Amino acid sequence: MDFSIHPETQEAVEAVRDWGHEAMRPAGLEADRLGSPLPVDHPYFQRSLERGDGRTSWCPGESSPVRRGAAVHAMWLAEEGAYWDRGVMVANPGPGLPEASVLARGTEEQKEKYLGPFVDPDRPRWACFAMTEPSAGSDAAAIQTTAQKDGDAWVLNGAKCFIGGASRSDWLLVQATLDIRQGRNAQRSFFVEQGTPGLGNFKIEKKMGLKAYESTSFTLQSCRIPLENLLGGESQPKSQAGFKTAMQTFNAGRPIIGAMAVGMGRAALDESLHFAKETGLIKRERIRDRIECMSRKLRSARLICLRACWLVDQKRPNVMEASMAKALGAQVSQQAAGLGLEILGQVAGTGDHLIEKLYRDTKAMDIVEGTGQIQRVIMARQLVGLPR
Ligand SMILES: Cc1cc2nc3c(=O)[nH]c(=O)nc-3n(C[C@H](O)[C@H](O)[C@H](O)COP(=O)(O)OP(=O)(O)OC[C@H]3O[C@@H](n4cnc5c(N)ncnc54)[C@H](O)[C@@H]3O)c2cc1C
Repeated sequence: MDFSIHPETQEAVEAVRDWGHEAMRPAGLEADRLGSPLPVDHPYFQRSLERGDGRTSWCPGESSPVRRGAAVHAMWLAEEGAYWDRGVMVANPGPGLPEASVLARGTEEQKEKYLGPFVDPDRPRWACFAMTEPSAGSDAAAIQTTAQKDGDAWVLNGAKCFIGGASRSDWLLVQATLDIRQGRNAQRSFFVEQGTPGLGNFKIEKKMGLKAYESTSFTLQSCRIPLENLLGGESQPKSQAGFKTAMQTFNAGRPIIGAMAVGMGRAALDESLHFAKETGLIKRERIRDRIECMSRKLRSARLICLRACWLVDQKRPNVMEASMAKALGAQVSQQAAGLGLEILGQVAGTGDHLIEKLYRDTKAMDIVEGTGQIQRVIMARQLVGLPR
């Protein structure tokens, strides 16, 4: 395994660093202080688009847009972006979470229709993946949103919650079941375009952290969509249509989430180090001990994220490493923010310091895309040879 950073990746990381310092961190602090997501017309999004963000990695006419070393490259960028502000990173325009599912399972027509507008977007555009429901979070197999065929349409009914960017998305990839009694095997993903009658009741949730992006609940009430809006089409093999492949989207993303958490922990470390140096606290052994602890744990977690991404690039299984990267990254970033709060003491307690924001933001990293407990359940089952 190669531990070095490719020069092209290094260059891209440096560009994110400049942009993060200049625009991401200030936008994240602004949203946190206002307690609401960056509005759609915030100048940050237009500037982000102008610097080349918000694009799809899909290349029309190319069967596989995935380039060599793509996962490791993405990991380094994720860590650096989240160092500056993870909430803003997710708020960024682009096809986001559902892009991987569309690339892996979408028909050519679906890629053209839904990813096409993200090739060279005329304005900031968003898309989202809607799995979670009020009564189905960790147990994603328990979703109750139904899809029933009625003549030339699918009719969707249900409720979703905590969906990133739902009210501003051009389209939503909605997970629904064809038959609740059949559990996970009957799940499918559907494109629902914004403005479709029956899609509505958007309500932005109140969150403790990661406030720059909206997490939104909504309902689908007799929402009719064309038959061709079934991801992958009706002719796709059943083995590729259901729950398992939706979960693969999350598996690929887990080390990236772990890396983002490491980036946030690194921000807490730098903030603490800066404060300790400035105030002279660094002369104290027990302060240096905390700094060392933060650094050691963050570096270890980064190595596991790197390993998990390297396995993706090698097209080798990474279930264990992906869950370990997600669980450990989120855990050590929370520890780093907690230790930082202790070092800054009263200064952190005023509620208007980056370290306090990081403390709230890192907690959310243990929840998104599969909680820490769920990652540990997955690893334990893998260890004893049980199916996932
Ligand atoms: C900021 C944010 C953004 C999000 N974005 C999206 C999004 O874009 N799209 C989307 O679909 N979802 C999204 N979610 C939802 C997220 O995926 C769920 O919150 C997560 O899966 C946990 O589900 P839950 O909140 O319902 O908790 P629950 O599943 O109710 O779990 C509650 C607690 O019980 C624990 N637990 C549950 N089952 C077990 C078990 N078997 N063993 C041990 N412990 C267990 C959990 O770890 C947790 O601590 C987002 C959530 C947040 C906070």
